[in-house]
Amino acid sequence: MVHIFDTRQLDTTGIIAATALETDDGLALFDTGPESTFLNVAAELRENGFSLKDVRHVFLSHIHFDHAGAAWRFAGSGATIYVHPRGAPHLIDPTRLVDSATRIYGAEMERLWGRVAPIPAEKVKVLQDMDVVRVGQFEVRAIATPGHATHHHVYQWDENVFGGDVAGVRIDGGPPVPPFVPPELDIESWQQSIEKIRMMNPARLYLPHFGLIEGSISAHLDALEERIRRWALWFRDRIRAGRDEAHLIPAFAGYLAEELRAGGATEELIRDYECADPSFMAVSGAMRYWRKHHPEEISGDNS
Ligand SMILES: [Zn+2]
Repeated sequence: MVHIFDTRQLDTTGIIAATALETDDGLALFDTGPESTFLNVAAELRENGFSLKDVRHVFLSHIHFDHAGAAWRFAGSGATIYVHPRGAPHLIDPTRLVDSATRIYGAEMERLWGRVAPIPAEKVKVLQDMDVVRVGQFEVRAIATPGHATHHHVYQWDENVFGGDVAGVRIDGGPPVPPFVPPELDIESWQQSIEKIRMMNPARLYLPHFGLIEGSISAHLDALEERIRRWALWFRDRIRAGRDEAHLIPAFAGYLAEELRAGGATEELIRDYECADPSFMAVSGAMRYWRKHHPEEISGDNS
């Protein structure tokens, strides 16, 4: 049995999930949500007949605060935290993570994400690509899936995949969109990661943003991949034409909103997408990607 707990960050529903698998060895939580919503998740645990101590395993897709911000709280009540090797050092010493997030969010940090504290190293278990953890009756496999972040894992058990951010953001039946964020966006890696998810051929795909996808997973992945390619080229053409960040931020927000609107989204749903995956992040993510990976493709007609 899988429970999708709604973290209700900033009192908004259906944006950030903490996904819990019931096992013979307590609950396994896939992503925790931010620390600011820890008490909401604790309340949902109680409403479903669990206590905090029942969460014995926490599998993190990656360490961005909306996914892993509350991990230290669950570690504090006894859970083991599983994470990609490149994520582990930042859980044990979050100083650099907090510094770089503060550069993006400034004074909003605590309101958005809550508090951050180190996790004792003995509570953090590093998982390499294809490592398997036995949790009660389940075998949970970690699969390295870079693209959104280099330190990203998806997790597979039986016919289920917990997709993290690399499997896309899909809110309230809307289309799947790829969360482009700095500093590690990598289009080619992302496409390979989607291919890995396809090969697993899951019957159920769980998204942290937001919930269960069942039955139409290959269509979901096709639509996600089409957007990754098209958005990457949208940015490439404009960066090549010399457009700067100040131009691209409103331009991309408009492009995304128009695309969602054309697909039938209400203004409220468009706002929810902005909440789950702020469009301004895509701009610096894409600029950094093109400059770092394909500088030759964005130089030329800047005059
Ligand atoms: Zn993320």
